[in-house]
Amino acid sequence: MLETNIKEILVTEEEIAKTVERLGGEITAHYQGIERELVVIGLLRGSFIFMADLVREIKLPLVVDFMTVSSYGDGTVSSGDVKIVMDLDMSIEGRDVLLVEDIVDTGNTFSKVIRMMNNRKPRSLAICSFLNKPECRTAEVTIDFCGMDIPNKFVVGYGLDCAQVYRNLPYVGVLGE
Ligand code: 5GP
Ligand code: MG
Ligand code: MG
Repeated sequence: MLETNIKEILVTEEEIAKTVERLGGEITAHYQGIERELVVIGLLRGSFIFMADLVREIKLPLVVDFMTVSSYGDGTVSSGDVKIVMDLDMSIEGRDVLLVEDIVDTGNTFSKVIRMMNNRKPRSLAICSFLNKPECRTAEVTIDFCGMDIPNKFVVGYGLDCAQVYRNLPYVGVLGE
């Protein structure tokens, strides 16, 4: 039988809800008075649940789009390159853009995505990540809106996977053996 083997809950459903509400408030305040809709971009697949919760806490007109990137070539070893697997539908030139990530770990993937997005000349570009592992950072990434810092542990749930499983857990947990 399939079982869910979680040895530690790091972020409970209640903590998630409070954190998302706070982030939504910060983002709403930051973009007060913008002239066109905020463009909220989710990086798939990890951010899909956070994104759905977050946009409902942002009390501003906005549009959403998604993008899938992969930091791997054809093999399983990271090539250090970021490839766009599925690009945005819309142009972000001249727009206020908020990039939404599930977790920033080394920052390698995200720093390259940020560079690619900046090349498209948005009016502004800001970063929101639900989780942050500051101990693991090797590339510089400034997170403008950060949910919470967590220790250097591999976590699953609330969109985050292990081999594509566990994304549907309503909390963030650490896998058991
Ligand atoms: P980075 O490029 O910052 O090292 O991390 C890139 C991606 O690795 C994240 O967007 C996420 O998909 C994955 N990742 C990093 N840490 C974790 C973790 O603790 N759990 C899971 N499930 N994925 C992680
Ligand atoms: Mg991710
Ligand atoms: Mg993953």
